Amino acid sequence: ATASGPVNWDGVGTTSDGHRVKVLGNVGSPADAQAAAAAGAEGVGLFRTEFCYLDAAEEPTVDEQRAAYAAVLAPFAGKPVIVRTLDAGADKPLPFLSPEHEPNPALGVRGLRVAFDRPEVLDRQLEAIAGAAADSGAEVSVMAPMVATAAEAAWFAGRVRAAGIERAGVMIEIPAAALSAKEILDAVDFVSVGTNDLAQYTFAADRQLGAVAKLNDPWQPGLLRLLKLIGVAAEITGKPAGVCGEAAADPALARVLTGLGLTSLSMNAAAIKAVGAALAAVTYEQCRAAASAVLETADPAEARRAAAN
Ligand code: PEP
Ligand code: MG
Repeated sequence: ATASGPVNWDGVGTTSDGHRVKVLGNVGSPADAQAAAAAGAEGVGLFRTEFCYLDAAEEPTVDEQRAAYAAVLAPFAGKPVIVRTLDAGADKPLPFLSPEHEPNPALGVRGLRVAFDRPEVLDRQLEAIAGAAADSGAEVSVMAPMVATAAEAAWFAGRVRAAGIERAGVMIEIPAAALSAKEILDAVDFVSVGTNDLAQYTFAADRQLGAVAKLNDPWQPGLLRLLKLIGVAAEITGKPAGVCGEAAADPALARVLTGLGLTSLSMNAAAIKAVGAALAAVTYEQCRAAASAVLETADPAEARRAAAN
């Protein structure tokens, strides 16, 4: 499976022999959403909702949130959009929500953990998302960040359904969640792998620290072996498992992820055409072979070479 340039892509993610892998956009603002739609995204695999909160001294009202989300959803009427609930804490601190003194914020009360203490904040966000879905006509599902266990996933899915939203999923960003992917998929409708955080927690290497950036290379075989577990869980349960971290934006790695059993790839707008074209240039069997080959390697350089053969 040698690399080929971003030539032919007709806007529907498939391998050359028709194995379907949705090619989706990551968005965090109305401008991002327009760029993703213009690049040919089939939908949105990660809508980061923090933009609506970042400069806010207090929680935006349900109506304010609803209008802000509807503006992002607008270009995707009739298309699938996965909205991520608030991922406050660690690298995304929020004045009105994040705990003030945590010795290790990346290991503290962040993501869904905030909602265990303040479920009413989550419920108001879900109400706003349901309203924005109705306003825009997008096919909205919702997922939670920073989920560690199947019990947390089940708790979240219950609140999503109580808000009248049909499809609930969770991100896999914590190694324990990757190791429990099957049990988590039993509790929700889909998962999406956040490889940025999953790498950070797997290698115990701060994603914001240049000095340890080599460990956070998405071609690290130790990370790819965790992704394999998630792909197998998707195959066993028949439920979707996407990737929405930076790893999905690398065309050669996109083939490997497809071969590992992941079912959709979500990325920044600039990467969409190259990834779509890279998938269209190989068969599913070639993706499977590339995936098997990287799992036998010892370091990222060897993994990159193995995938290119
Ligand atoms: C990730 O962790 O890979 C991810 C997609 O979420 P974020 O980068 O917003 O933490
Ligand atoms: Mg993350």
